[in-house]
Amino acid sequence: MASGIMDFFNKGSDEAAGRGDDVLRVRLECLLMFIYYAVLALIMFKQRLALPAIVLCVFTLIQVILFINTYRSKSRTTRMVFIISMAVAATYLSGVLGMNRGFQHFLYISLILLLLESHISFDSKIFFCIGIIMISVILNAICLLSSIQYPLEPGSDVETRVRLLNEVTLALNVVIIGMSYTRHQVEAERQLYLANQKLKLAADTDPLTHLPNRRAILDVLEEIDRDKDSTISIAIGDIDHFKRVNDTYGHDAGDEVLKNISDMIMKFMDKKGYSARWGGEEFLLVFTDTNGDDAYMVLDNFRRRLSESVTEYEGTKITVTMTFGLEEHGFFQTTDKTIKAADSKLYTGKETGRNKVVY
Ligand code: GH3
Ligand code: MG
Ligand code: MG
Repeated sequence: MASGIMDFFNKGSDEAAGRGDDVLRVRLECLLMFIYYAVLALIMFKQRLALPAIVLCVFTLIQVILFINTYRSKSRTTRMVFIISMAVAATYLSGVLGMNRGFQHFLYISLILLLLESHISFDSKIFFCIGIIMISVILNAICLLSSIQYPLEPGSDVETRVRLLNEVTLALNVVIIGMSYTRHQVEAERQLYLANQKLKLAADTDPLTHLPNRRAILDVLEEIDRDKDSTISIAIGDIDHFKRVNDTYGHDAGDEVLKNISDMIMKFMDKKGYSARWGGEEFLLVFTDTNGDDAYMVLDNFRRRLSESVTEYEGTKITVTMTFGLEEHGFFQTTDKTIKAADSKLYTGKETGRNKVVY
């Protein structure tokens, strides 16, 4: 039963950030103001104040229409009509029943709701602020300066009940608005965080191979240079005669080989450290907590597996080999120097026959 009611109120409120929470808030506000106007209308009927009672019935009806409207798509219009109806009702009730019964406070609630509307321009908001303040001043002036006898005898039971009703409704309005916008803000911050993470990932990832790019691995290397705590080995690998692959099978086939090799490197380096696409057909491998001898063993084993792997492209089977230069990182120097040493070993490997790990 309780969850059924919650589902009814929440319907459509889990939509994209921005609209969802507004829908739930407007529904709760409509329900609250419906009860408020209805109770007030009853009190007016009992006091034989026919016109205010009828006007309040109209406002009660407006809340029902607005509530139903939240299940359609016109949420912005619904919100604006709600705000305007609240301001008009507050002005009318303050004018007819007097300022010192708390009706005027709803003018400020409507003003807050209006200020929170993101689609309204700053100038219009200023205009509305001045308007509401002026209405309030005029109503106060009429109340103070004229000798109008407002209905509901001051201090009477009915006047106390009306004041109490206003206070409670006002407080509930503040709670609904506050909770809604806190939730709204938390959700907006979460979305922003996720969007930032996505952007960062996109900026750090090579679009073809999905490996981290050079920029991303440079961050890791910078971290290593700062925190000289564990044994690290760094290798640079380069695909042998890759130009021939492009020339023989075409550039797209070359891309497919790059993707296949990258997948293998990614899986191989999982839990061993970091890998990145360092350049065109070059890869950087950072073995954490691994000395040069151990890194050599696993890397040479991987190189053998890689030379036996086949990339299939449009029915053609393509095999490639890779040459690696490997260097244990000495913490008396920067990673930049270690990479240069690994690079020079890679060059030696290319000079001395390729398809090997030079350590
Ligand atoms: P070596 O064994 O000496 O490394 O020979 P190599 O042919 O691999 O080296 P070279 O530097 O002569 O050529 C590298 C080739 O890699 C040339 C370039 O077109 C190709 N390449 C670089 N990036 C990409 C890419 O993203 N896709 C494709 N298909 N080819 C690429
Ligand atoms: Mg090459
Ligand atoms: Mg190269």
